[in-house]
Amino acid sequence: MITVLTGGTGGAKFVEALKQLLPARQLTLIVNTGDDLDWWGLHVSPDLDSILYVVAGMLSKERGWGVEGDTFECVEAMGRIGAPAWFRVGDRDLATHLTRTQLLASGRTLTQATAEIAAALGVQPSILPMSDERVETRVATPAGELSFQEYFVRERYRPEVRSVRFLGAEEAVPAPGVLEAIAHADAVVLAPSNPITSIGPILAVPGIRQALRETEAPVAAISPIVGGAAVSGPAGALMAAQGLPVSVAGVAQAYEDFLDLLIVDERDASAAESLRKSGLQVHCTNTIMKTAEDKAALAAAVLQLITPSAARAG
Ligand code: GDP
Repeated sequence: MITVLTGGTGGAKFVEALKQLLPARQLTLIVNTGDDLDWWGLHVSPDLDSILYVVAGMLSKERGWGVEGDTFECVEAMGRIGAPAWFRVGDRDLATHLTRTQLLASGRTLTQATAEIAAALGVQPSILPMSDERVETRVATPAGELSFQEYFVRERYRPEVRSVRFLGAEEAVPAPGVLEAIAHADAVVLAPSNPITSIGPILAVPGIRQALRETEAPVAAISPIVGGAAVSGPAGALMAAQGLPVSVAGVAQAYEDFLDLLIVDERDASAAESLRKSGLQVHCTNTIMKTAEDKAALAAAVLQLITPSAARAG
């Protein structure tokens, strides 16, 4: 049983490859919901959607979000009507948000709504939101505090970041199955996802960090920082704002209380050497997932590292 903590971009690429290598029932995906937003009265969960779509084989390859081959008639029409249109929602993607919103309005939890949508899409691995309660990632900038999507999509992560907080996290509880999936896993993997705004909100839900510290399973992370910079997106600026070095050492520091193994890129070999001196297990491999082969090789290497006996038996 492998449990993965993930966001929606780097995480989705890794999950895409991992699901090819493992039977669905052996995979549990715990997904960030700190980026969720109310959009046109709909409950949109961008990271849950990316993970649902990638596992269903529907994720747009070109965009890395939304549904492959989708059209954008509705958002164009909304713009013409004068509604906000900076968050691009595809027409087929809209079906997911409409369904989720209806399910939530009829009293289902986010976990139940996600399971129903997953079943309808033929998705078998267990996909769990980190919490059924609302936790909102808020980014403080010189022009005021923004929601994550306002910062990331509307402002294209240009504003200087002063700090990040997770509104509602203290009162939230892990979604049903989350703590069990960490406690009973054979291995736990933190996908190459933003440590501050994808993994950070998950870790901010009371009980999850402790479960990672207490699980007997090895906990591994794949660094989203390669050669001193994020592979994509604002992870570097966000880590710096939280006082972390923008390096594999910064990733190790973010997870230091529970991490057993850090998987870094080959070009971080020298940084890996100094991390090893501090007692952490560090493995170097190619972690840049451009092609299907890159993704498959990384997922296979990670599986071999975290479940050596299964790999030997196989
Ligand atoms: P989000 O929820 O859309 O922000 O997605 P994630 O947090 O899952 O992914 C964003 C992170 O993935 C960024 O910090 C990137 O540096 C990292 N990332 C994206 N592609 C790759 C890749 O091919 N390899 C590695 N190692 N990291 C990646």
